[in-house]
Amino acid sequence: MVLFFVFYDSNVVAVGNCADINWDEHELGFSPVPTDFMYVMKCAKGDKFSQGSLVPYGNIEISPFAVILNYGQGIFEGLKAYRTEDGRILLFRPEENAQRMKIGADRLCMPSPSIDQFVTAVKQTVLANKRWVPPLEKGTLYIRPLLIGTGASLSLTPAPEYTFLIYCTPVTSYHKSSLNLKVESKFHRAITGSGGTGGIKSVTNYAPVYTAITEAKANGFSDVLFLDSATGKNIEEVSSCNVFVVKDNVISTPETNGAILPGITRKSIIDIALDLGYEVMERTISVEEILVADEVFCTGTAVVVNSVSSVTYKETRAEYKTGAETLSEKLRKTLVGIQTGCVEDKKGWTLRVD
Ligand SMILES: *Cc1c(COP(=O)(O)O)cnc(C)c1O
Repeated sequence: MVLFFVFYDSNVVAVGNCADINWDEHELGFSPVPTDFMYVMKCAKGDKFSQGSLVPYGNIEISPFAVILNYGQGIFEGLKAYRTEDGRILLFRPEENAQRMKIGADRLCMPSPSIDQFVTAVKQTVLANKRWVPPLEKGTLYIRPLLIGTGASLSLTPAPEYTFLIYCTPVTSYHKSSLNLKVESKFHRAITGSGGTGGIKSVTNYAPVYTAITEAKANGFSDVLFLDSATGKNIEEVSSCNVFVVKDNVISTPETNGAILPGITRKSIIDIALDLGYEVMERTISVEEILVADEVFCTGTAVVVNSVSSVTYKETRAEYKTGAETLSEKLRKTLVGIQTGCVEDKKGWTLRVD
């Protein structure tokens, strides 16, 4: 067994490789499995982030006045570390997550780590938790960077102190099979247009969709497809992933207009589809249109590329092609191939960690 050493507070901690975890025993899914280390970096309002460190994974202590707890001043990110066939560890476009966090931080009046600080911190976190990166066929290590206002304030002012924190956990697939989506006509995910926060990974974006998701799941659906809040006529995205429709071999996805989260998977799938010679359009898509599509699929770091088997809008249920012969499966295979080092990475999307 190969051992490497992590230096932390002058203690030397030996961390094994993944051989000491029985991956076949783990029913991972997307549940919280604690790992060994997390990364923490703090910064006062008006300052720049400078120096962070790895600390043992565990609870964090913050003031009840912390702005993140009271007013939700926080941005989250999500990316994965992939194990290749020969045991290397790769990240996929981590600088895109760094960039997106920066945009979100600007919107919520927070300082953010530089692109380089972000990527270096992610690499360090993965290396310290190396034994938790599952082998190729067994899953991936999901990495969750958080940028939160941890300083105390009761008034409506940005927090006096910020914490950039990264933790990670091994995961397998988010959804076990293709999705049955319900079009939500009562609740909205985001304000349509560029004035809201739908286009950033604000921690405040998810709790408001729990009602819709819970109700949909109780009725046998996998997830919810949201409509624009201005007209209620056009599709925007699923609660935590972007949506694509395929009709006559043309691929379309709603344009990112401020209400739609600009997914890195979305962007990568558009590029892969164009490279494979498909026509791709970013445009307004009405709910009527999705009901007559040939194929529908969702994209996101957690769900990767997930086929949709049905979309239900009021009394109408549309069904779509799924399985090995679909375009979404072809795109998924190419994306996962690049992410796991099985397909040549011609675009420099992957970053080796170890
Ligand atoms: C994170 C997220 C996505 C997917 O983005 P990726 O960068 O592909 O992981 C899509 N929609 C919402 C609402 C999200 O929060």
